[in-house]
Amino acid sequence: MKLRTKIQVFLSLIMIIVIIFINTAIYFLFYKVSLDAEVERVQSQANTLMEALAENENIDADPHQFLRAYIPSNGMIRVINDQNEVIESISKEVEYYNLPFTFVKKQSQQVIQGDSGTRYAIISVPLIWNDGQVMTLQVAEHLTSLKETMSTLFIVLVFASLIMIVPALIAGRWLGNFVIKPIRQLTHSMTDNPKDGEWKKIDIHNRSKDELYLMGNTYNQMIDRLNESFNRQEQFVSDASHELKTPITIIKSYAQLLKRWGNEKPEIFDEAVQAINSESNRMQHMTEQMLSLAKNQQRENLLFESVNLIALTQDIIRSLSVAYNRKITLFTELQNLEHSADKEKISQALYILIDNACKYSDSEINISIDQFEQEIQISVEDFGEGLTETEQEHIFDRFYRADKARNRESGGTGLGLSIALYIVRAHGGDIKVKSNEGEWSVFTIHLPY
Ligand code: ADP
Repeated sequence: MKLRTKIQVFLSLIMIIVIIFINTAIYFLFYKVSLDAEVERVQSQANTLMEALAENENIDADPHQFLRAYIPSNGMIRVINDQNEVIESISKEVEYYNLPFTFVKKQSQQVIQGDSGTRYAIISVPLIWNDGQVMTLQVAEHLTSLKETMSTLFIVLVFASLIMIVPALIAGRWLGNFVIKPIRQLTHSMTDNPKDGEWKKIDIHNRSKDELYLMGNTYNQMIDRLNESFNRQEQFVSDASHELKTPITIIKSYAQLLKRWGNEKPEIFDEAVQAINSESNRMQHMTEQMLSLAKNQQRENLLFESVNLIALTQDIIRSLSVAYNRKITLFTELQNLEHSADKEKISQALYILIDNACKYSDSEINISIDQFEQEIQISVEDFGEGLTETEQEHIFDRFYRADKARNRESGGTGLGLSIALYIVRAHGGDIKVKSNEGEWSVFTIHLPY
């Protein structure tokens, strides 16, 4: 069953049940109130008769005649003695004579159903008869008018219920459409997107800010992210293939050179082997970095543990200062700085920044670690080539190299800083750069504390 039909059926059923319940309650409440009023009316007739009997002495002469004057227009008056015998029975309608009777010593009210299905209100009150005996005076009246009123009310309520069910059905259909429309839009968009190869969003303008709006908005945000990641992936593949093209072309041309002249000109042998070796090393380094970048893009890969950032930085400084034979100094007032991080990844990010400082400068390198109330800052400062404003804007882009010529020498791939930024961002932080071209550069890692 379609969701819209389900909503419509469910809502209509609920409405029908509520309408039936309310109308049944109205019917029975009205019946109860009307019945009480009728019984009260017969009771007051009985009371009037009792008062008249008490005040009037003429009853002794002809009780039958006296009682006849008080008979209800559609009812009966009966007098029953203590042997349960009717001694007076006055009525204009014969059906009353079949009504049951009993002698009672206490006043009582009764509603009974006659053989024909008609209901009767019967009031019984004790009475001192003219011979001094205690009798029961019974005043009865049928409730035909109440029956008629109740049948009219029944018809009115059935009609009213039928009329009320129509808007319930319309409301169910309207609500079904209201809920289904955005879901349908979403389904269409989901089926059309792969077909058209586009990332279409759904229109959520002019919509009230309800859960359906939130659903549409979340879907649009997801489409934005998909679109962005799709574009990034496309860009990455095209950048990567472009970057790999150069070393492959170099390797290929040297291989052809060797094939053609290798035997005749041994002097080109060394040069070709060296070039092929260095380009294949570059390719290996690049593919490793691409793999690392792909891995780092998955946040859930992080393995958090308590890391002493001071000791970690000191280790990296030690190995790089030996490798590059450079003076790298750590400035910090802290002995220990324990922080929750992925040790391997954060060390990779630090390694990239210090390695860059070594590659793109010749003099000393200063590293400082500071702990503030809400963040930790690790700065790497070098006094090398520096970066222009435009270069500073792009150095975190993948495959971006500030000066292609000098980078080819340094073996740079343009992926290091993007990897470092991904790692730091995955830790909830950021990397900021400040530089003066030809003078100095400072790369600062900001980690939330
Ligand atoms: P690469 O592998 O080329 O070093 P990175 O992403 O680490 O890749 O760096 C991108 C570019 O930013 C480098 O090619 C270089 O031009 C520039 N760069 C990075 N660090 C520094 C620095 N400390 N001083 C000057 N330029 C730098």
